[in-house]
Amino acid sequence: GAKAGGRGGWKLFHPEMDAELQARRALEADLRGALARSEFELMYQPLVDAGHGATTGFEALLRWHRPGRGMVPPGEFIPLAEETGLIRQIGAWVLERSCADAAGWASSIKVAVNLSPVQFQGGTLVGAVRHALAASGLPASRLELEVTESMLLQDTEATLGTLHQLRALGVGISMDDFGTGYSSLSYLQRFPFTKIKIDRSFISGLAQERSSLEIVRAVVSIGRALRMTILAEGVETEEQLRLLRSEGCDEVQGFLLGRPARNTQLLKAACASGSAHSFSMAAVPARV
Ligand code: C2E
Ligand code: MG
Ligand code: MG
Ligand code: MG
Repeated sequence: GAKAGGRGGWKLFHPEMDAELQARRALEADLRGALARSEFELMYQPLVDAGHGATTGFEALLRWHRPGRGMVPPGEFIPLAEETGLIRQIGAWVLERSCADAAGWASSIKVAVNLSPVQFQGGTLVGAVRHALAASGLPASRLELEVTESMLLQDTEATLGTLHQLRALGVGISMDDFGTGYSSLSYLQRFPFTKIKIDRSFISGLAQERSSLEIVRAVVSIGRALRMTILAEGVETEEQLRLLRSEGCDEVQGFLLGRPARNTQLLKAACASGSAHSFSMAAVPARV
């Protein structure tokens, strides 16, 4: 082992760095073949109307079954997929798979798909979305694309153009994790969002902290004025749900309302409930 932190910020070779680098290379090598080996899966978490408790849609959440390692959550491989550019192909697969799954649901149920900022580069996103809609037959109005504030820091003129093209197709655009990034209220004005998803960091302390409640109240008020739907993420308790309803939040999402589930589970639950329009799954009782 050699010493670290030499002049000029150079770090000399460390055995533990070698191990880290090797683990990363192995992850990258596995990730490269994951799509071809069908190791990805989408789980769906319900988005619920805060008023009457009906499921209005499901958010697609990506999972990777890495051989010998079990299920890897997105936080552990999406950053690498973004760095390597693999996210473009993975993202296209997510769009196709989620639209195809949603086409088999009741016609009132939407699907929400997360987009990486990297998918906005290279000019292929609008085509990928059109393709996923055309291949599945899903009406554009049943697709919502979720973007985070980090996307807005990129080339904003190009991003704005892409978002307008997507809106023109008829898909919804949600601002995900609102309040955690470089939130600027001017983004809400400039970009054609149809929904604001308040980050769960503001929901977790809702019942304890006055400040969280005030922030939620302010976001609901801004969203209402701008005619956007307001959804609260990470709702875990009845008390949070009660407060969000009284603040006038439109939709809620979180473990209280339902955990991410497989498409086959959703379809079984919809059949069991006897109505193609009721997606209040047995595992996801209507709590509102
Ligand atoms: P997100 O879009 O904000 O998704 C919500 C995350 O919060 C999910 O984590 C979900 O399982 C988790 N969650 C939902 N309800 C609760 C709750 O009540 N309590 C707590 N503690 N957590 C809750 P997940 O599935 O690990 O996804 C993490 C992030 O990875 C997502 O955050 C999203 O940014 C990203 N992601 C997931 N799927 C995709 C994808 O297909 N493409 C891209 N680009 N990113 C994805
Ligand atoms: Mg999301
Ligand atoms: Mg989110
Ligand atoms: Mg979040």
